[in-house]
Amino acid sequence: MYYQPIYSSVQREFHSAEALVRLKDTSTIGFVSPEEFIPIAERRGLIVDMSMIIFDQVCRFIQEDNLEKLGLQYIEVNLSAVHCMDNRLVPQLTSLMNKYGIRPNQLNLEITETTALDVNKYVAGNLGKLIEMGCGFSMDDYGTGYSNLSQIVDMTFDIAKIDKSLVWGYFESTSHKQKVLLSSTVEMFHRLEMQLVAEGVETQEQAEVLEKMGVEYLQGYFYSKPIP
Ligand code: C2E
Ligand code: CA
Ligand code: CA
Repeated sequence: MYYQPIYSSVQREFHSAEALVRLKDTSTIGFVSPEEFIPIAERRGLIVDMSMIIFDQVCRFIQEDNLEKLGLQYIEVNLSAVHCMDNRLVPQLTSLMNKYGIRPNQLNLEITETTALDVNKYVAGNLGKLIEMGCGFSMDDYGTGYSNLSQIVDMTFDIAKIDKSLVWGYFESTSHKQKVLLSSTVEMFHRLEMQLVAEGVETQEQAEVLEKMGVEYLQGYFYSKPIP
């Protein structure tokens, strides 16, 4: 597992980190991107077993590296859509948290925007239990899926993560419309009383502009790449 720090523009310090899985074949192909192997694991029915290895490592990291000493409030973990709907999720996570003696609020689960929209339909049971226990939730990759805005209002997410494409669009495009897209998204979430993470922050200029917009948390290579 690698961890990418997330910076709080309000507290002006690193506040959390996102756990990102890595797979390295030492003999031939070398590094394989999670964007490649996660979808394969989902299709082959391996994702639940793989996720449990991921969660085990993350919980152990939280315990052994003493999150609070590092100044971090919680670790964000990507939760696959398939795992969201699996009834082993809650018992397995509960037993891991007990095994390592960590608090549910030291975990924040990231669910992609598209999965999030199915939350009410399929996974309310699982996720509802985790919310009750005190786990945090973030809506991941906002701006890439097919958002049904009226459903977003009903969801119980603490944080929305604005996808890098929306962030980069603001800075790369000369079109006024791209700029409106990001600034209105920020305004909308704030008016819905949700906090925001901007992904893909690569330059100081981007960091400063996003901070001025009031984006609470910033993540990207400008601060740090994911680190082992
Ligand atoms: P994601 O959840 O959107 O994760 C953010 C990705 O953006 C990571 O790629 C990260 O390394 C990359 N990134 C962060 N900051 C920057 C930046 O400033 N510039 C650029 N160009 N890229 C940046 P990574 O680690 O390759 O992960 C890709 C995707 O694979 C993730 O996208 C997530 O959907 C999935 N994934 C990764 N780890 C896990 C995991 O443990 N479980 C599950 N279910 N999915 C995972
Ligand atoms: Ca993520
Ligand atoms: Ca993301």
